[in-house]
Amino acid sequence: RTSTHEGQTPSAREILAQVWGFDDFRPMQDEAVNDVIAGRDSVVVLPTGGGKSLCYQVPALVREGMAVVVSPLISLMKDQVDALVSNGVAAALVNSTQSDEQKRETAARIRSGEIRLLYLAPERLLTNRTLDFLTTIPISFFAIDEAHCVSNWGHDFRPEYRGLRILKQRFPHASVHAFTATASERVREDIAGQLELRDPHILVGSFDRPNLTYRMLRRDNALRQIMSVVEQHPGESGIVYCITRKEVEQTSAALAAEGVSVRPYHAGLDDLTRHGNQEAFIREQVDVIVATVAFGMGIDKSNVRFVVHAGMPKSIEHYQQESGRAGRDGLPSQCTLLYNGGDLMTWKRILEMGDRSNFDEAMANVNSMAALCSGVQCRHAAIVNYFGQEFDVENCNACDVCLGELDMVEDPITLAQKILSNVVRLQERFGVAYNVKVLTGSRDQKITSAGHDQLSTHNLLGNESTANVRTWIEQLISQGFLERTGEFNVLRLTPPGRDLLRRQGTVTLTRAAPASAGRPSARST
Ligand code: ADP
Repeated sequence: RTSTHEGQTPSAREILAQVWGFDDFRPMQDEAVNDVIAGRDSVVVLPTGGGKSLCYQVPALVREGMAVVVSPLISLMKDQVDALVSNGVAAALVNSTQSDEQKRETAARIRSGEIRLLYLAPERLLTNRTLDFLTTIPISFFAIDEAHCVSNWGHDFRPEYRGLRILKQRFPHASVHAFTATASERVREDIAGQLELRDPHILVGSFDRPNLTYRMLRRDNALRQIMSVVEQHPGESGIVYCITRKEVEQTSAALAAEGVSVRPYHAGLDDLTRHGNQEAFIREQVDVIVATVAFGMGIDKSNVRFVVHAGMPKSIEHYQQESGRAGRDGLPSQCTLLYNGGDLMTWKRILEMGDRSNFDEAMANVNSMAALCSGVQCRHAAIVNYFGQEFDVENCNACDVCLGELDMVEDPITLAQKILSNVVRLQERFGVAYNVKVLTGSRDQKITSAGHDQLSTHNLLGNESTANVRTWIEQLISQGFLERTGEFNVLRLTPPGRDLLRRQGTVTLTRAAPASAGRPSARST
């Protein structure tokens, strides 16, 4: 959709220029701001870094009365309020760390009409005391940040968000605006329903982040691969994500030993250390933070130049959010993901130990992520398509696929035939690892005693590394020629797989890219 400035009071753009020093709204911001000013309930979906906060901060200064911002994280609220105050905006927050004295002072400033934006956690807002107080105040609107927390379908359901449905009842004259980076249609509709929004306008921004260059490399030597990214950004800020706390500790120590200015961050560190490390990163006293995914939510550091994932995230949605913490300022930034087939099994194990009720859905998300990693479609296109959006750029020039960094196999159909016929010879009764062993000519006892060293496909790819053969099988899975089935993840041909065996169809296979690949590069914005 194209944006127009029709119907928008000129003062919104004046305020944007005066207070924030920005020339113009981004396309979707424009429409979101119009809705808030017009008092029409809305659900706004913008990716991380898409600029959600201005969508309610600017209207708060345009509309009469006080705006209330509901946010789940104290650190996020504090950062936003500090930033607003330093821009000369009368914003305040109330939280449990404040003294009664401070709370009384804030209440007085609210009553006098001075405060334009009040930030609250949902559990505080929903106390009778706060609600009763707020009904005596002219409220312009409520902005609900991280609104997916209201939905069971989202990845971060918080029961305290459910109570927010009473806002429409208690404050019938205030509009309610929900903001989230979660794109699924089901979550979006659930948000509107749960909050009992009236005829809400649903706005979904583009999920493409053109200034990010994506690379997905098979992990062979993680430290060396991480270092090759870090070395391209001397003195610049970056985040390295690991799956477990232990990996965070090890990676952080290893990078420090290489002379990198680095700190760890994970939920197992004591508050003081963790907070100190985060502050050091934000204040640029250290360049790199190695963290679990606990890090980053609500951190507005606009000049993060690279994000490395040392392991595969558990969904494309998580990947989009975490990689999206790079380049919020719009300047070229790099996102490099290191993965191997074992990551999928790691997630399977983790999910099996957790809440089984949504296991299938969670596993489907993991599989989509794995397919993205071993896929050979433009990464920008693949991510945007996943979120249900079109991507019509011919060559993005900002991912390993379009930059031609993948090492393409010359005769992929013949190679695929060899692998697929091995699966058939094994009667579709074995998993990835066993297929790799047979193809590379292993004489394991298991294989010889089953007589599989006698198969015509045994040792057919004896000149190739097991890592490459494994990657190709993963690529055949992600391109839909093979599937994992049953309890033991046995490989089976799909109908397109059977066609390919008869040389019908096309396939792309790549060799594992060398770790050195990955110079900075991005489409201009
Ligand atoms: P989100 O909450 O959607 O992740 P933010 O609101 O934190 O995103 O905004 C991301 C960054 O983009 C911030 O650094 C913000 O200052 C910047 N930004 C937002 N809107 C604009 C704009 N219209 N022009 C220039 N920069 C903007």
